[in-house]
Amino acid sequence: MTIEPLLISATRQHETRRVSIGAVEVGGDTVPVIAGPCAVEAGYVEHAIAAHRAGASVLRGCVLKPRTRPGSFQGLGHAGLPLLDEARRVTGLPVIAEPLAAEDIVVLRDHVDALLIGARSMHNTPLLRAAGQSGMTVILKRGMSATYDEWLAAADYIITEGNRQVVLCERGIRTFETATRNTLDVSAIAVLRDMTDLPIAVDPSHAAGNARWVPSLAVAALAAGADALLVECHPDPPSSLCDAAQAITPQVLSRIVQTSLSLCAMTRPAVVGSVAGCRTMIDTIDDAVFHMLEYRAALVDAVQRQKLEATLPVRDREREHEIVDRLSRRAPRLGEQRVDRLVHAIIDECLDAAPASSEAAVA
Ligand code: PEP
Ligand code: MN
Repeated sequence: MTIEPLLISATRQHETRRVSIGAVEVGGDTVPVIAGPCAVEAGYVEHAIAAHRAGASVLRGCVLKPRTRPGSFQGLGHAGLPLLDEARRVTGLPVIAEPLAAEDIVVLRDHVDALLIGARSMHNTPLLRAAGQSGMTVILKRGMSATYDEWLAAADYIITEGNRQVVLCERGIRTFETATRNTLDVSAIAVLRDMTDLPIAVDPSHAAGNARWVPSLAVAALAAGADALLVECHPDPPSSLCDAAQAITPQVLSRIVQTSLSLCAMTRPAVVGSVAGCRTMIDTIDDAVFHMLEYRAALVDAVQRQKLEATLPVRDREREHEIVDRLSRRAPRLGEQRVDRLVHAIIDECLDAAPASSEAAVA
């Protein structure tokens, strides 16, 4: 029996390659959120713990920063490496960082689980080749004016060195719009899905340039089927030494992670992991189910109110039968009898909660 997928995953025509960042898989059954401050700064271990508590699966740990202006904070450099080690030890999460030159890879490889090639470096072919030769997982950002073809050609520089552990990352492109820092190209997710089997991550932070817009762009990316998110998060955004305006708080990060989990639960096969992991997912599903039931109850009340006016009967047994039929196909593991009991419990309780039903009973 085939169950029609919800629209979100409908464009997936072939298997996406699974790429590992430490123990975390990108392109698999969940959508990991990579998060942390733009740059590693003095309080980094606390920042990493906050991101971990908010549900991040991988940490941003950029000790070297490619800044537009030479006077801007350029990162702690090698002095930040012990902070990466400590954050990795305390949270147990894998870490990614950006090399600016081939020699940085040699230093970073003992401290991080994947390399981030920034937008400004997408055309740096010696760096791409060195990242390929390292054998480390590479997250390759799209250059701010690069076409899909140029971006995939850059990925080929890594792959032809024998390294197929590559994740593409859309981070916004330069357009005539100036309100946002860049324009997030959501099309990239759908189009590249047809052009490559590499997983596609999205960085809504560098696209938006403003923390207020990051959740919307993150949700747009998730809805389009992104395989991972890369988000800048700081417990005290105004004090962030780099990209303060676009840093979201851990509270907002936690809502983005919850949304990602809910969408995964609706669109991907069930993931059976640790008891704690399963329980997190179960809690997320219960939240989503009851949120929807609350909405359903309001709709039932609206229907009952109109039926009352039109003096139509409260229950429509034929429609109830159709609902059981449809949902039994959605939930073959539960089977028709259980679905029948569940659906009738939902219908009964929603009717019971509707003020219009009691008015109908009196009438
Ligand atoms: C970053 O993610 O740290 C960064 C510098 O972003 P981008 O390369 O997309 O500008
Ligand atoms: Mn940044």
